[in-house]
Amino acid sequence: MAPQVLIPQSADEAATLYGDGEGITVFAGGTILMPELASGRIRPERALLLHASGLSGIRSDGGVIRIGAMTPVAALVDGPVPWLLSIYATHVADYEVRQSATIGGNICAPPGRESQRGDLGAALIALGARVRSAGKGGERTEAVEDFLSGDRSGRLVLEIEIDVDAARKSGASGKRRKHAHSYAIANVAIAERDGELRVAVAGVGPTAVRCRSVEASRDPQDVLEDVDPVDDAVATAEYRRQILPLLVREALDRLETE
Ligand SMILES: Cc1cc2nc3c(=O)[nH]c(=O)nc-3n(C[C@H](O)[C@H](O)[C@H](O)COP(=O)(O)OP(=O)(O)OC[C@H]3O[C@@H](n4cnc5c(N)ncnc54)[C@H](O)[C@@H]3O)c2cc1C
Repeated sequence: MAPQVLIPQSADEAATLYGDGEGITVFAGGTILMPELASGRIRPERALLLHASGLSGIRSDGGVIRIGAMTPVAALVDGPVPWLLSIYATHVADYEVRQSATIGGNICAPPGRESQRGDLGAALIALGARVRSAGKGGERTEAVEDFLSGDRSGRLVLEIEIDVDAARKSGASGKRRKHAHSYAIANVAIAERDGELRVAVAGVGPTAVRCRSVEASRDPQDVLEDVDPVDDAVATAEYRRQILPLLVREALDRLETE
């Protein structure tokens, strides 16, 4: 049976049509969903297409940068966003995919069968970003790490918020496997503001993770207390465990003023 297609014309309409998310499949840039649809692996009952919802764009609002969920990853590469987010956007997929792929789709992406996704999560956690979403119980705004570690299934992401002065210094380090595209083996993002360190890792498991043990001790080895790497087609869990402390060390050494 063909799905019912819903095309909201505003953010409010999108939230209303989404309701509690029951039976709804949200389509953003479709870089993950379209191949799933074409292969018949998903059969949506109701498809919520966000392209006309007005949820795209980056704006500065007082001391906060607001990034609409439908903002393409390509717009983050040279956009008015912190360097740390920009550098991770540069590494997502390739030029063509980045034009369609969205920031909302990136943080809501389920892990792939062969590789991990959601590379932007590490930068967003390190920057102390917040997610504004709608769904059961209405709108709420929460830290990205809470959003990622909670039940995301009934949430429609509307916007990401980042404080303008989120980082005085930041550092990034990562390893990718070169193929037709280059997929993350592990990504580390670190930001420092007023002496407070925020450390996050992506690409080693289903979602990006905040590394509170490393934040407390500043010992790169403690990253293995915070994350539980997985095996996939890109790398083994053991290899990820071996390189993670080295990548954290490298990112700490690279902490530079933004
Ligand atoms: C060739 C190729 C290479 C890739 N390389 C990378 C890479 O290097 N790093 C990486 O992180 N990803 C990569 N990806 C995966 C993907 O392109 C990105 O993660 C992208 O940002 C997903 O965004 P999208 O808008 O296309 O998501 P979609 O395909 O539209 O949706 C993805 C998921 O998120 C949900 N969703 C989307 N928007 C919202 C919203 N606003 N609220 C709630 N749920 C929502 C959808 O329902 C779906 O479950 C790659 C994909 C391809 C095809």
